[in-house]
Amino acid sequence: MRTLHEGYFTAGLVADPELARAIDGELKRQREGIELIASENLVSRCVLEAQGSILTNKTVEGAPWRRYYGGAHYADAIESLAIDRARRLFACRFANVQPHSGSNANAGVFLGLLRLGDTILSMDVAAGGHISHGHPATLTGRDYRIVAYGVNRETERVDLDAVRALAHDCRPRMIVAGGSAYPRGLDFAALRAIADSVDAWLMVDMAHVAGLVAAGLYPDPLPHAHVVTTTTYKSLRGARGGMALWNDESLSARINAGVFPGVQGSVMLHAVAGKAACLGEALRPEFALYQRAALANARAMAKALAEQGVRIVTGGTDTTLLLADLSPLGLSGDIAAKALERAGLAVNKNLIPFDTRSPESPSGLRLSSNAGAARGFGVAEFERIAGWIGRILKAPDDDASIAAVRAEVRALCADYPIY
Ligand SMILES: *Cc1c(COP(=O)(O)O)cnc(C)c1O
Repeated sequence: MRTLHEGYFTAGLVADPELARAIDGELKRQREGIELIASENLVSRCVLEAQGSILTNKTVEGAPWRRYYGGAHYADAIESLAIDRARRLFACRFANVQPHSGSNANAGVFLGLLRLGDTILSMDVAAGGHISHGHPATLTGRDYRIVAYGVNRETERVDLDAVRALAHDCRPRMIVAGGSAYPRGLDFAALRAIADSVDAWLMVDMAHVAGLVAAGLYPDPLPHAHVVTTTTYKSLRGARGGMALWNDESLSARINAGVFPGVQGSVMLHAVAGKAACLGEALRPEFALYQRAALANARAMAKALAEQGVRIVTGGTDTTLLLADLSPLGLSGDIAAKALERAGLAVNKNLIPFDTRSPESPSGLRLSSNAGAARGFGVAEFERIAGWIGRILKAPDDDASIAAVRAEVRALCADYPIY
């Protein structure tokens, strides 16, 4: 009896035309549009193959060389490789590469180091923090008592005096630093001193700046934080997922158990292989050049947008992302993002600090150079992109202008082909 349909081991996606059509459509979208969303990037063919490999068939649980299931020799080698590379890249002693996402890395660390109901002092989402740091809609927001710090109204930057005052007031068990829409550097030594003064853990979530940290272009949290978490698919330009990194051996058992079995089950070995691949790439000298280019590109884009009347939150950026305040143009982020998408420019609407509008229709846009720099765009290309954005923002309903920009975007993308 034939238990497998024809082509089961050989045919590939052509066996499922409905699905193949959608994936082809997405490939075309990526090829012909400019990706400016900060949580995205363009991975290498090597990462793509590792993540799409037969490793998807293997189930392993627990730590390498101490698995519950057999037949794990290669799985152990792959996960060990990812761990070793993460440790080398960030010059730290320990790494857990299993978290399925950045949120899982955070939840695992919380579970490992905190008790139910403990207080976490983390950055307000409205000020640029991330929902996985205790937003009420998440499990962590329900399990812990969350106190939020924001940014200073004048500088739009984290105000360490305010964080210190809040910490002394709420006596947190953990302080969380890092966010998803915060374009500036952070003083991790000062944050650690604040954490020490109230006997709290310091966790730094470097999801948006991990690539810059690896390249030495952003303050390194690892000498200061008790534990650092990150995603691997944003500025690290790699596989989907997260990691936790730390130096203190006495935390290892708690962090590892927090991740598994704390918040997740078996390892996504294909994703771990993708992490090994991107970490290997990040250890090469070209990666620092990529990060340097991405940073210069983001700064050039910020400057060019400012020249067109967009207000750049904090006046610039120390990272590959920037936050644009559209209120001087009398425009909201949702309307702007929709118009830009029609022109082939993918961005996301975003709250700005002290936003007077709503999360659904905020005042800002978040923009990033990650994917454009991976594609090979330089400062000149990002200045052109900023020019197109300015043109759309001034006339978001002008179909002719959107079509004209769409054509220019397509032409630029054709000059920088992917895959
Ligand atoms: C993107 C991000 C995450 C987590 O992302 P997942 O969607 O769970 O992978 C966590 N923290 C910060 C600061 C982020 O920007």
